[in-house]
Amino acid sequence: MLDKITVAGVSVDTRHWIGGRRVASASTFTDHSPIDGSELGEIARGGPAEARAAVAAARDAFPAWAGTSHAERARILHAIADGVEKRIEELAIVETTDNGALLRSHRRGVMPRVAHNFRFFADWLLTLDHEDFETRGHTNHVSWDPAGPCVLITPWNAPLMLATWKVAPALAAGDTVVLKPAEWSPLTASLLADIAAEAGLPAGVLNVVQGHGSEVGDALTSHPDVRRISFTGSVPTARRIAASAAANLTPLSLELGGKSPLLVFADADLDLAVDLAVEQYDNAGQVCLAGTRLLVEESVAEEFTRRFVQRASALTQGDPRDEATDVGPTIHPRQLEKIDGFVRRAVAAGARAVIGGHRKDGQYYAPTLLTDVAQSSEIVQEEVFGPVLTLQTFAGEDEAVRLADDTRFGLAATVVTGDRERAERVGGQLVAGTVWVNCFFVRDLRAPFGGSRQSGVGREGGTWSFDFYCDLKNTVTAPKGWNQDHG
Ligand code: NAD
Repeated sequence: MLDKITVAGVSVDTRHWIGGRRVASASTFTDHSPIDGSELGEIARGGPAEARAAVAAARDAFPAWAGTSHAERARILHAIADGVEKRIEELAIVETTDNGALLRSHRRGVMPRVAHNFRFFADWLLTLDHEDFETRGHTNHVSWDPAGPCVLITPWNAPLMLATWKVAPALAAGDTVVLKPAEWSPLTASLLADIAAEAGLPAGVLNVVQGHGSEVGDALTSHPDVRRISFTGSVPTARRIAASAAANLTPLSLELGGKSPLLVFADADLDLAVDLAVEQYDNAGQVCLAGTRLLVEESVAEEFTRRFVQRASALTQGDPRDEATDVGPTIHPRQLEKIDGFVRRAVAAGARAVIGGHRKDGQYYAPTLLTDVAQSSEIVQEEVFGPVLTLQTFAGEDEAVRLADDTRFGLAATVVTGDRERAERVGGQLVAGTVWVNCFFVRDLRAPFGGSRQSGVGREGGTWSFDFYCDLKNTVTAPKGWNQDHG
């Protein structure tokens, strides 16, 4: 195995990063590019030994990092953000080559946002405060104490963005980290380790273990020295992680899948509704928040569908490095198989593909819209995680809300309407961690983010992140004297 590979002109270390050192493994796995299926290189394949070594490094580094002043921690996080900003082009092209998402999005949206993740939580740490309050003259003081080593496990659809959304608040909180990126997109986590080391993050504070979740996961999530586990990924994996964490009752944050509705009322600006609906093909539909269930009021369904087909047919699908491309490839041949299976079964059950419904060359799947789908059918109830939308109609608000809320998920919902009161009424009834009204994907780190029902456990963002990554403490001090007045 080579210690380093060159991806799109960028040198990437293929080994783990443990205790401030690069560590190889006896075995490797092959990383492919979804753009053309080409081999990018052999990556260290971690197992229980590497997992234990990384947790030990995080445990050893914890006391010093937890004792570092807030100002010093914030300074280092800002230095990491500086490093990310300096390498935006490199991070963008490596991520696109590794996971197939659009280069233009990585350049202009995702990588700047990665830097922002560090700046935001650094700044929030410095303002983290709870006003003292009194109980019969005694003062209550609330503090956020560092909790310990955290295991952070992330998916492939937005690898560095989702990883740093966890790494940044954990480090700001004074915790140390073992990051396990997804095996289908392992590269930018390795670059992050370089950037963090260059920014002066002490050895062992951030560790990166590469490998398959099924081989390295359990050793991480069942480890008794781990104080927090934050996971973004699928529901079945979350169940395994929760079972593994149960032995030590390790607190969990889970950001899981979705089957979010996009409701279009007859009073909506139909062009806006169509724009928002077509946006759901972003990242070839491999977005947890995607509003994949289009619910359209009967009276405008025909016109909506006509305009949607016109807009969606004009999308350019192809190489995600090309600025003109709107829809790139799916991540992996197995994901492509999964998507194709969902659509084939839906069509066999009576669904009609208004557009798409088939594979294209390589790992590409045509943007697809399915109608004639039953509410109880697999295609309406299960997350496809590909460029596949369904369209159902409704008559009136009650039916719209009933259909929207009738899945086991509750990650997000989008309501498109020209009536503010309707938006409030409907939004209030939807089961979702985020409701967007006449917009989509607007995300502010000050707001809580997470899912209801099987879309997740807990919320991230602002103080909610610190509540998770810290041990909250209330210190109650008597008003006068010491050990004299027990009030
Ligand atoms: P996945 O669950 O297959 O894998 C996610 C991560 O878990 C990977 O790093 C994998 O290696 C690891 N893993 C697998 N088995 C493990 C085990 N037994 N123990 C520990 N770790 C293990 O998910 P995926 O296919 O990579 O990602 C797609 C899913 O992620 C979709 O369901 C999507 O909706 C969800 N997602 C959710 C959000 C959110 O914020 N809610 C964001 C992005 C993606």
